[in-house]
Amino acid sequence: MKSLWREAEAKKMVGAYARQGVNKDLALRVYTTRLLGGDPRLVLHGGGNTSVKTRMKDVSGKTIDVLCVKGSGWDMGAIEPRGLPALRIDALQALRPLKALSDEDMVDAQRGALLDSTSPNPSVETLLHTFLPHKFIDHTHSTAVLAVTDQPDGDKIAADIYGDRAALVPYVMPGFDLAIKAAEVYEANRDVEGLILLKHGIFSFGETAREAYERMISLVTVAEDRLKTGRKKVFVSAALPKKIASVADVAPILRGLIADNDGASEPKRMVLDFRTNKAIRTYVNGKEAARYSQIGVVTPDHNIRTKNWPLLVAAPDAGDVPDFIKSTKKACDKFAATSHKYFARHNGKRDAVKVELDTTPRVILVPGLGLFGVGKSASDAAVAADIAENTVNVITDAEAIGTFRPIPETDMFDIEYWSLEQAKLSKGAEAPLARRVAIVTGGAGGIGEATARMFAAQGAAVVVLDRDAKAVARVADDIAGAAMGIACDVTDARAVRRAFDHICKTYGGVDIVVSNAGAAWQGRIGEVSDKVLRQSFELNFFAHQTIAQNAVRVMQAQGTGGALLFNTSKQAVNPGQDFGPYGLPKAATLFLMKQYALEYGVDGITSNAVNADRVNTGIFAGGMLEDRAKARGLTVKEYLGDGNLLKREVTVDDVAKAFLDLALGRKTTAAVLTVDGGNIAASLR
Ligand code: ZN
Repeated sequence: MKSLWREAEAKKMVGAYARQGVNKDLALRVYTTRLLGGDPRLVLHGGGNTSVKTRMKDVSGKTIDVLCVKGSGWDMGAIEPRGLPALRIDALQALRPLKALSDEDMVDAQRGALLDSTSPNPSVETLLHTFLPHKFIDHTHSTAVLAVTDQPDGDKIAADIYGDRAALVPYVMPGFDLAIKAAEVYEANRDVEGLILLKHGIFSFGETAREAYERMISLVTVAEDRLKTGRKKVFVSAALPKKIASVADVAPILRGLIADNDGASEPKRMVLDFRTNKAIRTYVNGKEAARYSQIGVVTPDHNIRTKNWPLLVAAPDAGDVPDFIKSTKKACDKFAATSHKYFARHNGKRDAVKVELDTTPRVILVPGLGLFGVGKSASDAAVAADIAENTVNVITDAEAIGTFRPIPETDMFDIEYWSLEQAKLSKGAEAPLARRVAIVTGGAGGIGEATARMFAAQGAAVVVLDRDAKAVARVADDIAGAAMGIACDVTDARAVRRAFDHICKTYGGVDIVVSNAGAAWQGRIGEVSDKVLRQSFELNFFAHQTIAQNAVRVMQAQGTGGALLFNTSKQAVNPGQDFGPYGLPKAATLFLMKQYALEYGVDGITSNAVNADRVNTGIFAGGMLEDRAKARGLTVKEYLGDGNLLKREVTVDDVAKAFLDLALGRKTTAAVLTVDGGNIAASLR
């Protein structure tokens, strides 16, 4: 591992932050924290922290000694000075003589020592940073250090490779006790460059940012060098079926089987994130995968995101999918039973009685394919997948030089059921569309874009489908949270199938489809060419059918219901002059909606339509809307509001809200919801 320290960059950062009133110590602390955080071999999703001891003015104007330490919720790779809140060192040092300190009291004391009460919570390893005397301290969960110390004789290996350069700290759960233990180990070995926290990670320290950082790189390189020597071949492959089912076929099956579905309320679904590469496949295909994959996490705090063990399923034989479903169902039941037993074994034994967590796996290993990260949102699933990939690397290395052996189960339980984590459980209701994957066709503008934005704001992972690749990318990038854009012509059945396969790979499946793409062709019905009429039918009818067919295929594989939503139009019930080419396929789509409601209600799939009118969506070509408004001496805005009973302009958000209401309605199907401000000729009965 090479040092990425560049003197010029460091100087530049010091200068830039000086102009914002940030001192040199903190600026350099930000610089090397980002260097560490940018490398997943060192830091992954909050697994690591850094600090600097410096001087700052408190509110009274007095200059005092402070510790700036990483705040929770900040990504080290993109940290800013405010992600390293300042704490009064004397207030923290006053805790050192205590015999014991609960995590809750520790958090209180740390918050009380903050100079700025609006800061994030300082790291749980703050006291460890306090009790060590060094100016700069770096902590990572280096994969190489974990592979070397996650061994039955990890202490011996570490002692052998580090000699006098680093002292060893036996495993203690992070918090006050670990801070005391680490300080004691250091005080007995004052010449070391760092501490190896067995089966947890590594600390390095120095008088300058560069010294602490380069010691980290150097100490990690020692572990990397050890991993290069005496490697044995690992993970002989098990026999696999001749043809493995595709990821796109397997993902919805898994997503359905792990969903918590009582049949009465909305299923508690999960979002998936598929990963594969040669190393992952070698790992999941291994004959002994049931042993090495089920031992535990490579560093303790991973289990908060991945649980201690992944769900390992059988290789999916493309020739016998029903058998895969059967065996996976069994594996899921076993996973739940094992989780319950694990909880019962440890609950209340060393600590207070806890609330049992859900028994849904957060990582699924599929021989022949790869692995899935699982989460309540797309971002949670991605974090689980990142950690799972990292785990594959650590366990592969650990097994290559010995035998993977992480902390014992009791210690894993203490972290997974940590009181600070338990306190977070009851907080915050989930967003209405959380855990759901929604597709919006024609999503790159008008009603579709408004719907995509609203669904994302309500917690769904959203996929925007539209013809224009640039517009799709713009909308997907712009939507906060999880959104993916796919350029797709919905009249091309093969392209639609490819899009659905891609969505299944990316998120695991589909729960809501807003079939919205459409365009208004005109022509007097007795004279219009067949070509125009057929073109309109392709987009305004057949594309809806193609989208709905793919949707129900995936929804049936999941077995957790779903919602089909069609954008019909006023034209479907109340034809307008010269709008036959538009209204006829829309009328057919209205019946298509009813047909799906009739035939797939038994699968828990709702099918509904929104009937909107005079929404300025931009789909009316050639300034038609402007012409009509002008003919009546009105502006477009006046025209849109003028023609309805309520005299209210209908916006794209009003239509999006109608789609949202229908998506949330568990007991409404075959309905048409009118959003037109009142048009008595188009009212349904
Ligand atoms: Zn740590």
